[in-house]
Amino acid sequence: MRVTTVCTALLCGIAPLAAQSPVQPINWDSLGAEAVRNLSAYLAVNTANPPGNELAAARFLQQLLARDGIDAQILDTAELGPGRANLYARYHVAGGKKAIALVSHMDVVPVMPQFWSVDPFSGAVKDGYVWGRGALDMKGEGLVQAMALIALKCSGVTLDRDIVFIGNADEEVGGNGAVVFVQRHPDLLRDVEFLMTEGGDNLVDHGKLAYYGVGVAEKRTFWQRITVRGVASHGSRPTKQNPVPRLVAALHRLAQYQTPLHVTPGVAKYFHDIAPQYDAEERVWLSDVAAALKQPPARAWITDNVYWNAILRNTISLTVLSASNKTNVIPAEASAEIDIRLLPDQDTAAVRAELVRVVGDTGVHWETMYPPKPPLESPIETDLFRAIVRAAHDRDPGAQVTTPMLTGATDRPTYRALGIVTYGFDPFKTEETDAQHGVHGNDERVSVANVAFGVHYLYDVLRYVQ
Ligand SMILES: [Zn+2]
Repeated sequence: MRVTTVCTALLCGIAPLAAQSPVQPINWDSLGAEAVRNLSAYLAVNTANPPGNELAAARFLQQLLARDGIDAQILDTAELGPGRANLYARYHVAGGKKAIALVSHMDVVPVMPQFWSVDPFSGAVKDGYVWGRGALDMKGEGLVQAMALIALKCSGVTLDRDIVFIGNADEEVGGNGAVVFVQRHPDLLRDVEFLMTEGGDNLVDHGKLAYYGVGVAEKRTFWQRITVRGVASHGSRPTKQNPVPRLVAALHRLAQYQTPLHVTPGVAKYFHDIAPQYDAEERVWLSDVAAALKQPPARAWITDNVYWNAILRNTISLTVLSASNKTNVIPAEASAEIDIRLLPDQDTAAVRAELVRVVGDTGVHWETMYPPKPPLESPIETDLFRAIVRAAHDRDPGAQVTTPMLTGATDRPTYRALGIVTYGFDPFKTEETDAQHGVHGNDERVSVANVAFGVHYLYDVLRYVQ
């Protein structure tokens, strides 16, 4: 471990401009290079989950922060199991406003190294990129958060909000790290007003920025298992007690069912924001998507896009089927698992009642497979959203800052349940193909330029939200 602090590396080393201004100018080139070195070392800590091994990552971040005088605590080791941990740090300021939390998960998904062109846990820096599992999802963002926090402390910028830094275990498997943290340490979060973590997406397509995406909402998984019971017998003599045709009929009704279209506030804003990228009537339709959905041609065009369709309604995908395991055996039971995803403002009991009505068969038994997470929809009219817009426009004047809904699931609802305004924030402008190939895929990487960009961008957001 080097003994120099990051502060000595990143400050310009010149005296403040005026005696009354204690703010130290930052050497952003040095800071970017320091961030790249630190990210490379962080990616070399193998936290593939399972098993996770987040304790090693927590120790790494603890040492990084300690070098600049920020104490971090390693927590929840007994509850999370051997080699696992959450991390918590707080930069205390004497301000009067509520705190803002920077949250990342320290685990990563496993790799198939034979498909990578570098060792995914070597922290390779080459061809202008930092390579490794977690570069984008989401050790890159976690490291950027730590460096922005250090930069704020070193530069002496006046802050009105404490900045909390949290590293969670186990996001990629059970989400248990965030759940345990929230259950055991509500006192550490009591004064937190805003929280930033993954789930944002700045879309860059062939070098052109389409928008800055702030995640304000995500869909909720509401997986159901339906079961029909019957009487087992020989397939050569058909019976009315065969559960398979009855299950198939139920699934057919679900497959035919069109869930209602419904526009939530963030989704309305998203369509309105992207409308100028389209021509003629399509632009008009997207600028007021709720009105457009009442017109058949517009509705057909909009819902033909699988992403747009999924953010405008609850969705039902029939996926797992099980019945007999032998052609000549009528089974005693047939069941199916159904991947249902709800818009954030939906009532689960009402949705279940509607599905039961659609199927219309009392012989079909319903079971919710996992308790649904709390809903995630955060308001848009906030100081943090305005700070993100301002920092984004510093870099790309006139760029759209919009609110695409995530169709998948993150740890955010666990924190949102405490009333914290929770945003998905993307510190990078990642080329779409890099994100598509790398996140949970192979050759995950983030450009050196993006690492420096991300630290400065988040530093400005945190400065502006004060
Ligand atoms: Zn992630």
